[in-house]
Amino acid sequence: MSIEKVETLVVGAGQAGIAMSEHLSNMGEKHLVLERHQIADRWRTERWDSLVANGPAWHDSFPSMPFSDVDPDAFAPKEKVADYFVEYARMINAPVRCGVEVTGVQRIAGKPGFRVETTQGVIETTNIVAATGPFQRPVIPPVVPVDADVLQMHSSGYRNPAQLPEGAVLVVGAGSSGAQIANELMGSGRQVYLSVAAHDRPPRSYRGRDFVWWLGVLGKWDAQTTEMGQEHVTISVSGADGGHTVDFRRLAGQGMNLLGLTRSFKNGVLSFAPDLSEHLAAGDANYLSVLDEADAYVERYGLDLPEEPEARIVEPNPECVSNPILELNLAEAGITTIIWATGFAVDYSWLDVPVLDQNGRPLHQRGVTKEPGIYFLGLPWQSRRGSSFIWGVWHDAKYLADHIAIQKQYRKYNDSKLS
Ligand SMILES: Cc1cc2nc3c(=O)[nH]c(=O)nc-3n(C[C@H](O)[C@H](O)[C@H](O)COP(=O)(O)OP(=O)(O)OC[C@H]3O[C@@H](n4cnc5c(N)ncnc54)[C@H](O)[C@@H]3O)c2cc1C
Repeated sequence: MSIEKVETLVVGAGQAGIAMSEHLSNMGEKHLVLERHQIADRWRTERWDSLVANGPAWHDSFPSMPFSDVDPDAFAPKEKVADYFVEYARMINAPVRCGVEVTGVQRIAGKPGFRVETTQGVIETTNIVAATGPFQRPVIPPVVPVDADVLQMHSSGYRNPAQLPEGAVLVVGAGSSGAQIANELMGSGRQVYLSVAAHDRPPRSYRGRDFVWWLGVLGKWDAQTTEMGQEHVTISVSGADGGHTVDFRRLAGQGMNLLGLTRSFKNGVLSFAPDLSEHLAAGDANYLSVLDEADAYVERYGLDLPEEPEARIVEPNPECVSNPILELNLAEAGITTIIWATGFAVDYSWLDVPVLDQNGRPLHQRGVTKEPGIYFLGLPWQSRRGSSFIWGVWHDAKYLADHIAIQKQYRKYNDSKLS
C-alpha cells in the first residue's frame, strides 16, 4: 500500500493552523492541514454561548481580511469568529482535511522526516507544525472530590445559566473567563461567589482608545518575556455587552460575593486564603499603571485624546473584601455548582519525538525545536505576549514558514551534492 507523502504537515485548523497555511502558501511551500473536527472547532464548540472576542474586530483578526459583517469597533460573537476562519481558509485556498486526527508521530529511522499515524492512514512528512492550541486540556485543581455533593465543571464545559441546576454558583478563577461567566450568572439572577487570585485588569478603554490599542502602542503585546513569577498572571477583560472594564469592587457592589484563593475542602466546607484584598490591590496597581503609561504616551506624542480623570477613581473596599469569608459551607450557602475557570494544559501525547519536557510541555525557541522539522505554533508567550491571540499567531506563523523555507534550502544544497 502506498504511503501519502507531504512536505509539511500542519496539525490543527484553528487560527494557528490557518495562519500557518497562509504563510506556507506565500512561500510556495507544499503542505497539508489535518483537523480532527472542523475548522476553528474550539471557537465553535468549546466556548460558552454568549462569548464574544476580547478584542474589537479591527484588532482580533488577520491582516489580510477584515470581518465582513462585524463593526470594526465591535466584539465579534464566537460563532462569527469561527465563521471568519472558515471564510479565511476558503479565501487562501488552504488545503485543510477535516475529520482526520493525528494519533502518533515517530521519527523515521535513518533518514530525515516523520511517520505520522492518523485516523485515516499513514503519512510521511519532512516537517510537522503542531498547531493544536494553547488551551487543550481543561485543568481542575484537585481540591473538591469528584463525588462531593455539588456539580463541578470546567469553564470550557459551561454554556449558559439555564444549563446549571438551581442554586448558587461558585466560580473559581477571575481571569477573563471566570469574571465573564460570574457576571453572566449574576445577571441571570443567581447568587454568585467568585474566587479571585492574581490577575491583571487593564481598562477596557481609556481616553477614547480600547486597551488593545494601548497595549499595542505601549509595546506590551510585543513583550517577549514577562516578569519572573508573573508568567501565569491572567488578564481579566471583557467584550461582553459592548465591552467594559472588569472591576471586582463594582461586581461586589452589585451583589457578587468575592473570595480569596480557593485552598482546600473538608466535610462540605471550602477554605479560602486571606489574600483577596492583596489580589485586588495588585489588580488596581496594574490598572493604574496602564493609565499612567497611557498618559505619558499622550504627552510624549502630543496626542489630542480627551482626558478621563474619573477612570482613576477606585471604589472603597466592599464588605466582602474588608471582612473576607475564609470558610464556606457549600450546602448552607446553597451552592449547587462549582465552575472551575482555572485554565488549561497542553496535550502532545500523540507526539513521540523528544521535544517535550518532563511535564509534556514543548521545548522550543519561538516555536522551533531542536528536532529538525518539528515546530509548535500558538503557544502562550511563544515569541511574545500576543502569541496565543488571533493577531499574534499570524506573525509567529510567518516566522515558522520562513524557518521551514530556509531549512529546505540547506537540505536542497546537501541533496544536490549527493546526487
Ligand atoms: C474562553 C476563551 C476566549 C478567548 N478569546 C480570545 C479572543 O477574544 N481573542 C483572541 O485573540 N484570543 C482569544 N482566546 C485565545 C485563543 O485565540 C484561542 O484559544 C484559540 O482557539 C487558539 O487558536 P489555535 O488555533 O492556536 O488553537 P485551537 O483553536 O485550540 O485549534 C487547535 C485545533 O487543533 C485540532 N486538533 C487538536 N489535536 C489534534 C490532532 N491530534 N489531530 C488533528 N487535529 C487536532 C483541534 O480540534 C482544534 O481545532 C480565547 C481563549 C479562550 C479559552
